[in-house]
Amino acid sequence: MTTTDLYRFSDSSRWDGVYEVVECRRALSPSALPDIDYALNPYGGCEHGCVYCYAPEVTHTQWKDWRVVRVKANITDRLTRELPGIAGTVGIGTVTDPYQGAEARFCLTQQCLGILRSRDVRIHLHTKSDLVLRDIGLLSSMRGEVAVTITTLDERISKMTEPGAPLPRRRLEALRELTRAGIDTYALVGPVLDHLEGEEGRFVEALASTGVRRLLLDTLNSRPLLAGRLSRMGIGGSAAARERIRSLAEAQGMDVRDVFSGKR
Ligand code: SF4
Repeated sequence: MTTTDLYRFSDSSRWDGVYEVVECRRALSPSALPDIDYALNPYGGCEHGCVYCYAPEVTHTQWKDWRVVRVKANITDRLTRELPGIAGTVGIGTVTDPYQGAEARFCLTQQCLGILRSRDVRIHLHTKSDLVLRDIGLLSSMRGEVAVTITTLDERISKMTEPGAPLPRRRLEALRELTRAGIDTYALVGPVLDHLEGEEGRFVEALASTGVRRLLLDTLNSRPLLAGRLSRMGIGGSAAARERIRSLAEAQGMDVRDVFSGKR
């Protein structure tokens, strides 16, 4: 597939703005993810439309349905009721982005954070959006950590692979401001795609310039439907780029680990 075709995919796959307001049975679900005891996802589906997203396969959702964002209108009520019975870290955005565009309208993530803070619950929040900066005051008064995903510095590549998400410079700004506010922040570089080959030095320098001192590296998921889609688009992962980023970041004194393995 050519670059022109990828652009066409990007343009035609832009999220069309459909929200579905739903009620959830529970706000928190037990999580097997490292360092997270409970998962909290105020929205179902995601408008960022990343071409490498495997969440639809994990949740047994059709790709087209994944892009209809379900707004869990009663999640704050559920969370308030469930919190007295739990202890541990709550992961926010374990399946979908808690700061996708819907959050600017519905503020469910912000409301959940307020409830979690009132009970001094430790959080682990993960996003691709600089909308997280709206809540920087709230986050800086909570226990926990925040991850911002960044996969490229190239806006053209970002528009192709993550068509609905904020551009890389806005994510660098989010990393910079969160770090400056004293919030425990790290960059999630994942998946490491082959377009980063040859760009590793510039990429690591840009991350280091934000003040962030921790990186988490992720590889491209190989689930069959996803692999087929990416193969048709001519997109692949790169172990070489991942290892080059690791060695450059470690040379800068950063703490570098792999998703799930914790390998340094
Ligand atoms: S931000 Fe995450 S959940 Fe949303 S489309 Fe991208 S990979 Fe999937």
